[in-house]
Amino acid sequence: MERENAWKKYDSAALEELEALSARYRSFLDNGKTERECADLAVKAAKANGYIALEDAIKAGEKLEPGAKLWCAPMGKAIMLFIIGKQPMENGINIVGAHIDSPRIDVKQNPLYEDSDLAYLDTHYYGGIKKYQWVTLPLAIHGVVVKKDGTKANVVIGEDDNDPVLCISDLLIHLSQEQMQKKASELFSGEDLNLIIGGMPMKDADEKEKELVKANILKLLKEKYDFEEEDFLSAELEIVPAGRARDLGLDRSMILGYGHDDRVCAFAEMEAIFAINEIPERTLCCLFADKEEIGSVGATGMQAKYFENAFAELMALTGEYCELKMRRGLANSKMLSCDVSAGFDPNFGSAFERKNAAFLGRGVCFNKYTGARGKSGSNDANAEYMAEVRKIMDDANVSFQTAELGRVDLGGGGTIAYICALYCMNVIDSGVAVLSMHAPWEIISKADLYEAMKGYKAFLLNA
Ligand code: MN
Ligand code: MN
Repeated sequence: MERENAWKKYDSAALEELEALSARYRSFLDNGKTERECADLAVKAAKANGYIALEDAIKAGEKLEPGAKLWCAPMGKAIMLFIIGKQPMENGINIVGAHIDSPRIDVKQNPLYEDSDLAYLDTHYYGGIKKYQWVTLPLAIHGVVVKKDGTKANVVIGEDDNDPVLCISDLLIHLSQEQMQKKASELFSGEDLNLIIGGMPMKDADEKEKELVKANILKLLKEKYDFEEEDFLSAELEIVPAGRARDLGLDRSMILGYGHDDRVCAFAEMEAIFAINEIPERTLCCLFADKEEIGSVGATGMQAKYFENAFAELMALTGEYCELKMRRGLANSKMLSCDVSAGFDPNFGSAFERKNAAFLGRGVCFNKYTGARGKSGSNDANAEYMAEVRKIMDDANVSFQTAELGRVDLGGGGTIAYICALYCMNVIDSGVAVLSMHAPWEIISKADLYEAMKGYKAFLLNA
């Protein structure tokens, strides 16, 4: 039952393909550090690949023929790409779905304050993080500011070599005797994650002016971004690790990057669907959801109806919409819920059960179930479906492995699988193994990215 390491099978042509894919992926990570940025990148790529906006197709009202390619990006934070197939959608479609939000630290709505001649932004972290991992490293701000008149400015500070970066401080070791006695979970509270953004008082200030460092930051924001303090109220600013994704290891076999969870699966999906040039039998869908890390809630999370709505619109545009046919189509669909899995880490071996763990380099990983303590909350995929997926992977010579998320009774985790399974469609979790998941810098193997991309393409064409 031991799975082979995928690197062993590659010839020089495969290695070249793998390296080219990895380079494109690093660039995707560097330019997509928020859900909005990832959705924008996907829209741009879709347009370049001949996809048309679903909105435009609806306005035009012309019947869609097999081979038509469409994109739809709800609120610019999630995105769906479709290729219309030869069969009616009532027979079901093939879906690969990932999420493009990643754990991070969000700026509060009223964030700016001054303390001890330093200016800070107050924050509220997003998703499950070990807070102590996010201090004393260079951080960047990515996001949008929307003014009352509706104008929107994209903000990226901390990525260009000439940009300043931001940081959260920690206590020096010399004074840490008390701090070091605390449990790791108590080292930093959520309210301790205060971002340093300035330390220079404003010159030539009014005598009445009290907080001159804060005033100076506000002056800079006004000059550089035409940004008033009140504009924080309608801003979405996300604090993420500053810097680029890098090759990891002297053999360059891995990538150290921010947001592999779950942009590695999203990117692999996108590459897979863009590599499909033939008219497929069944309609295909590549989906990126938002808000997975906080429970798939909100209008752009998987629990919202945008996928179902787009499904209905496409059925109408292919001339077969009725409620009953749509329900049949959703139930007859097949999905890979593409999300990262916990990679076996020999430094923390006791957290795993070796026979049922995912190892870096052994290919795309299938989780029949995730869940926690007695499979609670998991989408436990059907054996019949797992058999079908196994065959598709083997026929396409895709390296794959199966895993649970850590040992029984320890952890567990959720994905978007259980939400799509509500339509009675077959869904299984499938993704790339990650070390240090949810840390500022996570680790994947390039081989697993490559096998995921090939596996997703094989699934789209053959499921
Ligand atoms: Mn995930
Ligand atoms: Mn996650």
